Amino acid sequence: MAMQHYDVVALFSGGLDSIIAAKVVQEQGRSVKALHFTSPFFGKPHLIPKWQEMYGIDIEAVDVGEEYARLMLDPPHGFGKVLNPCVDCKILMLRRARIRMAELGARAIISGEVLGQRPMSQRRDALNIISRDAGVRDVLVRPLCAKRLPPTPPEEAGVLDRDRLLNISGRGRKEQLALAGKYKLPEIPTPAGGCMLAEVESAKRYWPVLKWGDTPSARDFELANLGRQFWKRDNWLTVGRDQADNERIESLAAPGDLLFKVKDFPGPLCLGRQWPGRAWTPEAVREAAALTARYCTKARRHGGEVAVLVASGGETAEVHVEPCEPAGWGTPEWETAKEELAATRT
Ligand code: SF4
Repeated sequence: MAMQHYDVVALFSGGLDSIIAAKVVQEQGRSVKALHFTSPFFGKPHLIPKWQEMYGIDIEAVDVGEEYARLMLDPPHGFGKVLNPCVDCKILMLRRARIRMAELGARAIISGEVLGQRPMSQRRDALNIISRDAGVRDVLVRPLCAKRLPPTPPEEAGVLDRDRLLNISGRGRKEQLALAGKYKLPEIPTPAGGCMLAEVESAKRYWPVLKWGDTPSARDFELANLGRQFWKRDNWLTVGRDQADNERIESLAAPGDLLFKVKDFPGPLCLGRQWPGRAWTPEAVREAAALTARYCTKARRHGGEVAVLVASGGETAEVHVEPCEPAGWGTPEWETAKEELAATRT
């Protein structure tokens, strides 16, 4: 079957700016394929059907999780205020968009960036670096602030009509809200949010994965998003908080992992990740078993020792422990993580 042709591909986060950028281009009679990037840190692919219907935009999900996990190890342009490598993130997305553009026969890429809106990635010099390093200078147009930037090749070639592009800048949303009215958007997304790398509560879950994992994968970061997180040096235990967590934890178990569950009472499923070549000591296994029992209400009420099943590599052992929170296990605070992160960059 022949692939459908599009005039333009769009970076589409689901935020208001990305919706308006697509609408501005559609208004010029251009067909748009919007790309919604997903990873353990951002992306709401489950909303795509709703967005398509509400906004009349053709959207596809693009999973960049593995590429992103590798990027997190050492982003060339560094991190923003938290663990957000915004400049490299944009570069990565634009590189992928360029590939998709070629596949779809499109002649331009658009993004909803607004000059001066974000401190790290939307300053004029950052916008230049992004388009240069992503290799998209000849095809990238930023419809919301195009008139504040020099004309781009797609505008000069008539793919997009510069006169009908916009000249928005800064952090306000007034003009975007007026445009939302003009385009009769049935729902206006709330501003920003949605990227867990920019949120301290999530970032402090990710930092130990970066610190202790040799080559963390997207699945490691997905695991870090779940349940309660405990670390003791490089021993990492994820404790399910509810049935949904338990099911997700089970689905993320890798062959070398340890799965903990209290034997005689319903309780959390806990996953101990063993990094390759770094097997847990028997002491660490006992401590993780005690933690597993600690988060099993009935085991705590029972009093005294309980049996915890520890499964790994097709074999199951039984450990007898008293429910407790052994010393040394915890989630590092972001302040500590930030200092450690800073130390790796000096
Ligand atoms: S906030 Fe998150 S998704 Fe947005 S550019 Fe930065 S790293 Fe990428």
